[in-house]
Amino acid sequence: MMERLSLKIHGIVQGVGFRPFAHKLIQGYGLSGYIRNSSSGVELELEGERSSLERLIAELPEKAPRLSLIQDMEAKFSRELKGFTDFEIESSSREEYNNTLISPDLCICDDCLRELWDKSDRRYRYPFINCTNCGPRFTIIKDLPYDRARTSMEVFSMCPDCEREYGDIENRRYHAQPDCCEKCGPRVFYLDRDGKELPGEGIELARQRLKNGDIVAIKGLGGMHLACRWDDEELVRELRRRKQRDEKPFALMCRDVKCAGKLCLVSPAEEKLLRSYQRPIVLLRKKEPGLEYLSENKYLGIMLPYTPLHYLLMGKDIDMLVMTSANVSDRPIIFKNEEALRDLRGIADGFLLHDREIQTRCDDSLCWAFQGREYFARRSRGYVPYPLTMKRRLKSILACGAEQKASFCLSRGSYVFQSQHIGDLKNLETMENYRQQTEHFKKLFDIVPEAAACDMHPDYMSTVYAEGLDIPLIRVQHHHAHMCSCMADNSLEGEVIALVWDGTGYGSDGTAWGGECLVGGYGGFERFGHILPMALPGGDRAAKETDRIAFSLLRASGLDASGIPGAENYEKMLWAGLNCPLSSGMGRLFDGAAAILGIKTRCSYEGQGAVLLEAAAAEEEKAGYPCSLEGSPLVFDWREMIRAMVKDLKDGLGKDIIAARFMNTLIQMAVETVKAAGRETGLDRVCLSGGSFQNMYIMSRLPEKLKAAGFQVYCHCRVSCNDEGIALGQLMAAEAKLRG
Ligand code: ZN
Ligand code: ZN
Ligand code: FE
Repeated sequence: MMERLSLKIHGIVQGVGFRPFAHKLIQGYGLSGYIRNSSSGVELELEGERSSLERLIAELPEKAPRLSLIQDMEAKFSRELKGFTDFEIESSSREEYNNTLISPDLCICDDCLRELWDKSDRRYRYPFINCTNCGPRFTIIKDLPYDRARTSMEVFSMCPDCEREYGDIENRRYHAQPDCCEKCGPRVFYLDRDGKELPGEGIELARQRLKNGDIVAIKGLGGMHLACRWDDEELVRELRRRKQRDEKPFALMCRDVKCAGKLCLVSPAEEKLLRSYQRPIVLLRKKEPGLEYLSENKYLGIMLPYTPLHYLLMGKDIDMLVMTSANVSDRPIIFKNEEALRDLRGIADGFLLHDREIQTRCDDSLCWAFQGREYFARRSRGYVPYPLTMKRRLKSILACGAEQKASFCLSRGSYVFQSQHIGDLKNLETMENYRQQTEHFKKLFDIVPEAAACDMHPDYMSTVYAEGLDIPLIRVQHHHAHMCSCMADNSLEGEVIALVWDGTGYGSDGTAWGGECLVGGYGGFERFGHILPMALPGGDRAAKETDRIAFSLLRASGLDASGIPGAENYEKMLWAGLNCPLSSGMGRLFDGAAAILGIKTRCSYEGQGAVLLEAAAAEEEKAGYPCSLEGSPLVFDWREMIRAMVKDLKDGLGKDIIAARFMNTLIQMAVETVKAAGRETGLDRVCLSGGSFQNMYIMSRLPEKLKAAGFQVYCHCRVSCNDEGIALGQLMAAEAKLRG
């Protein structure tokens, strides 16, 4: 029985090779009709046997291209036939590009990888091989509509062979805009430390130099890396000196999962993430302690090669390399050839570059595998600019984010577009990049925001930026934004209990907050509980010189703190109340505890004290310290805990035991606080947000304990729990305000 099917497919199905895919599939069924792009996806009109049409509906989602995301399908059958005779792809009209989504950059696909190693293939060992399923996208696009003329590929005109593939619907490279080959595409070249191009094959030259112990700048997808041997401690330390990065961990690129397994434990979930087409840096547990010169904590950040160039670079003789973003201190990642040659002079011993320009910076993403999927510390390359899809339509808003881990969000319909990792806005160049990227996103996704959202902190550069926009501005309290971010991440509505733990954020009362239990929803919140505020002698300096916090905690707990260098000075400051702002920041409590234990008293990056305290903790220790909770708002008084810690220390107990007991106490405090909030409000959903929840000791224990106490627990899953995720929460809170 012949029937007609009208099929509407919603989701991410444009610009991802969906139409050619559907064409092939439909031809296989001998159906006739057409497919075209629509405002929310694609529409198909098809005629054929009912059974074939039904099988097609079942097969489409299973076989869809890896870039596509089918959200839902509407199918209508009818008996009125139009008498189609063949199958056509209707061409796109101009206005529908307004709804086009742009794909992130994707790692090389298996088909291209096979061709890369195939001697008989015309792209054998060609470092820019790609197809509709893989290759650069977001980082080479200048403007829309997405076609070659509006990308970095415009300067390379296709050779007849490539052109034929590009025009052939049966070909894997049909309409693959960055398609090219040795004859017509970009080329790599190697330059010495003075920027002079050396004769010979670029990649081979780089390989030799790397093996000999040089530090080589390598152009990737969204910026440059600095690479060197991983097994030469002196060399890695030299790289740290040149890069002015003393202690922050370096990531490694491993040839394959097996190599990663030599240094780290790799679970099936982690392997899946490593191999995923987004190719994030995955934080894996070291097999055994050591390799401190690469990473001073328990984890090593590992990624697999993701461009053909990376695959050509690695090989039998190079199985792993240190691969760190090429930037100098807090400046943005270097992405232009001229810039690399200028700014990496004296840092890189050589340069492996190419002539395909990067239009947009995009750093590597960084995550743990948690609950079977990504748990982001940084959501960037491979994920951006895919939108976060929400369950309802939103007003169009620009949310400006925080400051140190800046990123912004723009909404359109039910989509939220979150920017890539931008960095610390206190740096001028980073701020300039932030400004440019907000404009770029507005243009790419055709969004004219009707309002902006920002943090309440008057000095955040993102706040200053938001104030300069000529649209209504809604200020959202930092921890409320964290809470809303976690809610939106999990598509929650209504009210929740939220534990928001981070280093610092501007509180509604003007003091620094960060060890918070909030109750509320997008529309507002109440501060149900927090940790006892501590004085920070010297304010911001205390976050770096954390023995200042140790001093403050010890003094407040009635203990002797005179042994701390500078104690007399801090005593005076406290006495006079001079430059000793109060903070209830959980990160600061961690910093102070790490300093008391002598784990770290001088921090070179945010959260270092907490990271090292976590790394030091004994996994099997179950005990905790007294957990005093009192008052309304419910205040966690840490003084008893500090006294017990110091007693343990004096009794000669190991730091690993004390560190574990410290965190066990916080976990207990969290559970007790949430229970109290549950009793008072009747709510049973708990959100966990804020940078302190990057602590995997806590993450592997707290959610289970909360579940056991009868709560539903929501952690971040699509955006970072740290300040990078804040823009999403700001957007949702502002949207609630606009709705009134
Ligand atoms: Zn491919
Ligand atoms: Zn070609
Ligand atoms: Fe925060």
